[in-house]
Amino acid sequence: MKADCHMHMVLDGVDWRQAIHRHRQQPDRGWIRGVLSAYREQGVTYLRDGGDRWGVGETARELAPEYGIIYRTPLAPLCKAGHYGSFIGETWQDVREYRNRLACHRCHGADFIKIMISGLMDFDRFGVLTEEPLSDREIRELVHIAHEEGFSVMAHANGRSAEAAASAGVDSVEHGAYLTEEALYAMKENGTVWVPTLSTIGNLRGTGRFSEPDVAAILESAMENVALFAAMGGFLAPGTDAGAWKVPHAGNYEYDLLGECLGEQTSAILQTGTQRIIDKF
Ligand SMILES: [Zn+2]
Repeated sequence: MKADCHMHMVLDGVDWRQAIHRHRQQPDRGWIRGVLSAYREQGVTYLRDGGDRWGVGETARELAPEYGIIYRTPLAPLCKAGHYGSFIGETWQDVREYRNRLACHRCHGADFIKIMISGLMDFDRFGVLTEEPLSDREIRELVHIAHEEGFSVMAHANGRSAEAAASAGVDSVEHGAYLTEEALYAMKENGTVWVPTLSTIGNLRGTGRFSEPDVAAILESAMENVALFAAMGGFLAPGTDAGAWKVPHAGNYEYDLLGECLGEQTSAILQTGTQRIIDKF
């Protein structure tokens, strides 16, 4: 089975503002159908959306069966006010408001919950994230509350935030730049699936937008961790983050990059990880 375990129907890989604008009045069903066709042509039968607050993933879920695709969406990702993610998600100020958001997501049919708990990589400075992550205590609380409500949890987590999320039993870690060995160990112990979205880094090479040596170093460190995590027996699943800048929908690049890390075991490892995602989400 071919899957993309992290993509964004609302985005187009070119310009996020214009992409969102396309759907602002209402989801552009013609455009969504075009993207679903492209996935079908690639033989993809499972898509897990990273979310948006304009109902684009929700519309895609409604149309996907016509394309033979199982489609899962968290509806809007949830991020803490003042932190990364508000361009695409819904914000919460405190735990009470987070609980209210979960209740709304339940009523509106979210398949799972996506939480944003860290910043992004600064692609000009290897090792640097754009902001401090949420506190470990807060991360654990977010995961526990969503689990109590019966949702699986996908976490956008770079750097040290991943360890707290994994210890709390988060179901998948997305991106996961600069994971420490402790974080990888916690993920392995808790059966967390790592979706490393290497495409979002690899596709920046040669674009001239960022420092090439830093982009190369970021990619190399992520690929080393993927190989290490696989050697530890951790779950890994393919997700492109399609729609992010320079990451087209329905591309094969993520498989190529993961293949470079995993070698002969690539398809066996990815099948196991993908099945875990499908079972949980
Ligand atoms: Zn994403």
